[in-house]
Amino acid sequence: MTYAISGECCSDASCVAVCPMNCIHPSPGEPGFGTTDGLYVDPRACIDCGACADICPVDAAKPADRSAPVDVQLNASYYRERPPLDGLDLDTWEPPRFDPWSDGPRRVAVVGAGPAGMYATRELLQRSTAEITLFDRLPVVGGLARYGVAPDHPLTKQIVETFERIAAHPRVHWRPGTSVTVAELEGRYDAVVHASGASESRRLGLPGELTADEIVAWYNGRPGARRPELRGPRAIVVGNGNVALDLARLLPTLPGTGITEVLVLGRRGPEAAAYTASAYREVEGRNEIAFRYGVTPAGWDEHGLTTADGELISAGTLVSAIGFTGRPIEGLPFDETLGIVPNVGGAVIGRPGHFVAGWIKRSARGGIGVNKACAQETVRTLLTVGVPQPA
Ligand SMILES: Cc1cc2nc3c(=O)[nH]c(=O)nc-3n(C[C@H](O)[C@H](O)[C@H](O)COP(=O)(O)OP(=O)(O)OC[C@H]3O[C@@H](n4cnc5c(N)ncnc54)[C@H](O)[C@@H]3O)c2cc1C
Repeated sequence: MTYAISGECCSDASCVAVCPMNCIHPSPGEPGFGTTDGLYVDPRACIDCGACADICPVDAAKPADRSAPVDVQLNASYYRERPPLDGLDLDTWEPPRFDPWSDGPRRVAVVGAGPAGMYATRELLQRSTAEITLFDRLPVVGGLARYGVAPDHPLTKQIVETFERIAAHPRVHWRPGTSVTVAELEGRYDAVVHASGASESRRLGLPGELTADEIVAWYNGRPGARRPELRGPRAIVVGNGNVALDLARLLPTLPGTGITEVLVLGRRGPEAAAYTASAYREVEGRNEIAFRYGVTPAGWDEHGLTTADGELISAGTLVSAIGFTGRPIEGLPFDETLGIVPNVGGAVIGRPGHFVAGWIKRSARGGIGVNKACAQETVRTLLTVGVPQPA
């Protein structure tokens, strides 16, 4: 299912900034922007991630099956005469700003080949002539786009193919399965972009709880992930974000667990829920999923969950899906509360030559496409503040 933009479009282009596939046009600067009736989604490239719908201020972007047929047709016909884009926008790339003999960065290391690292790499390719060495401790690119996005969203996972094409660029030196430290990188590169993510689950602290990360890593087949012990008939998922809803949708479908129903618990009221409208639409009306709000978990044992009010809710599995946090990077400052590396526009505070992008820069929030604008800002900063010059 792809998305379509209706005639209510306000052309503020916030959807363009977050679209991971660059498949919304005309974008600012392109012919037609501001003079066409609005913006259009290219159905041949859309990966159904919902980022445009979640950010649209006027609710003009909708899944095709919830759009008026005329809007679906208008979106498709805008692209009929145009060649398909591959998510890289190679044709629209500006010439590099630096020639090889200028004082721009020559060698840049990007640590982490998740969405933020890949968008930073793409931006560096586009805006500089730097050679980029791309590291990831995993053997493949994609980060959470590969090992976080739910398996029933195969279209969204297709973004990984775009990332693979970026990694194959002749100016990118891809180092899979390589974990690197700040000390190892020091002196070898003009600049380092840290894009190591923030994929460590926050915990309730109740003995026996499972975390979202453990289950998500297993059902996505992340190397090294083990099958968690899941028991039914009821599972409780604590958390009110999109990952909690992914789990609520998928737990009853996993074979051999005996889970037939899921209770999603929010510690605050529904007004504080962090899930997006597009994620909610996928669980809306499902009989096997129930929601309760204003419940504080206090204890967990083989009978179930005890709430702070003393109520026992029987369940065989307790999963905390209350958010993610980053891990400190040795040699860089770290903000324990936010779980990020403190930075200004992506430049690490107090460490010239070091930059951050993605969840480790701004905390574990936002979908894949949000990392595009985030990485663009970081690379802009890198190219503007420059790199430390030898004394
Ligand atoms: C469970 C889950 C489901 C999600 N589903 C969706 C969805 O359906 N749609 C959507 O738009 N967004 C989704 N998101 C959000 C999206 O995945 C994030 O916005 C995005 O992945 C963050 O990108 P990142 O590059 O900052 O981090 P990551 O994706 O975590 O990438 C970080 C990379 O750095 C590597 N790394 C870490 N440390 C090192 C090191 N020391 N050396 C080398 N490599 C290192 C990691 O292996 C990883 O590949 C989901 C997130 C989660 C957690």
